[in-house]
Amino acid sequence: MARQRLAGTFRAAIAGLLLVVGPGALAGTQAWVGADIWLGKEQGYLEDAVLLVQDGRVADVFARSERSVPDGTTIHVVDGEFIIPGLINAHGHVGMARGLETGAEIHSRDNVIDQLRLYAAYGITTVVSLGDEPAEAFDVRDTMDPAAPDMARLFVAGEVPNPATADEAREAVDRLRAMDPDWLKIRVDDQLGQTEAMPREAYGAFIEEAHVHDEDVATHMVTLDHAKGLLEEGTDLIAHSVRDAPVDQELIDLMLDRDVCITPTLTREVSTYVYADRPDFFDDPFFKRHADPTVLEQLQEPEVQQRYTGEAADYYREALPLALDNMMILHEAGVRIAMGTDSGPPARFQGYFEHLEMAMMQNAGMSPADILESATRVAADCMGIGDELGSLEPGNWADFVILPEDPSADIRHLRVLQTVVLAGRVFSNP
Ligand SMILES: [Zn+2]
Repeated sequence: MARQRLAGTFRAAIAGLLLVVGPGALAGTQAWVGADIWLGKEQGYLEDAVLLVQDGRVADVFARSERSVPDGTTIHVVDGEFIIPGLINAHGHVGMARGLETGAEIHSRDNVIDQLRLYAAYGITTVVSLGDEPAEAFDVRDTMDPAAPDMARLFVAGEVPNPATADEAREAVDRLRAMDPDWLKIRVDDQLGQTEAMPREAYGAFIEEAHVHDEDVATHMVTLDHAKGLLEEGTDLIAHSVRDAPVDQELIDLMLDRDVCITPTLTREVSTYVYADRPDFFDDPFFKRHADPTVLEQLQEPEVQQRYTGEAADYYREALPLALDNMMILHEAGVRIAMGTDSGPPARFQGYFEHLEMAMMQNAGMSPADILESATRVAADCMGIGDELGSLEPGNWADFVILPEDPSADIRHLRVLQTVVLAGRVFSNP
């Protein structure tokens, strides 16, 4: 898949020919011409290609040498660039925090929109928010024009209930369904002893009732035992890494048999301890571009730094290497890994953390091409939105990112993203 950059002048000359367009414009047809277009891990790039977009959707992808674009098409010359599908965060959160604050006082439509624009500015064009969003997030989802979004697309899960019995679990499903969520989410662990773990009869009943109504259930867990129990009861997504023990063949078989994906949320672990000291990424220009300086100051106050020490911080710091190993074992066994960060709660920086997550995946040994797949097609398929998102197949929404460097050679090349396009419109963060 590695490719040589072709001479830009030659490509520009060819593009010049395409700029001669006739009358009878097809309203709304646009072509991005000259880039290498990522078709997925199997096919790699279609080199020196044309991405044709109509009414916000991909109309066609073909080699420039194959044929010319229809008369009247608006041409965007992107010679020598790379185009990948918009990135998808399969596990984020929107609207539940603003800076380090949480709670009903900060819930607003504007906060949800600001956060979706932040994701989009980092090339994350779709976010599946897995729970605890305010009602305003449902409103933003419902009023967004899918053919002209000026922010990341949003899917939501709503309240994360904590039923103690099977009856409570069934009632919770009915209550949640009234909001029309895209996913349901439950948290079964005891939060390191702070709460009661959810009994198996409760999460089993929750999943069963959800499935009666065709709802998918994502599950928050920590331990290998919980992951197995949840899979046996039919969960549709393991929403975090297994963090107490190495994954074993029994878990692998359960995940493969049931075709269930996992979102490793590696940066979630990082966020539990990294602010005990000043993190290196505070100096990263790619981070500073959008980070709120007030929040960075707060995170360097000694009493705030103190919050990122102690038992929970130690637990998750020690769990991280295990989480990384477990991700690689599952990946190599063929389990689908969907890029997901759990960004959105305080100090889990939306947009930037997705890039941090992908860099961590690469450092752990996943190939850049696999990570790209994990953050596009796999994430879309795992979250049930692959019929419209996650690849640049004709018919899908034309959400994509234009880059000068090849991210399938090094995933950190995503950090030099130039242009984000949502449904065929260039997104610029207001
Ligand atoms: Zn989460």
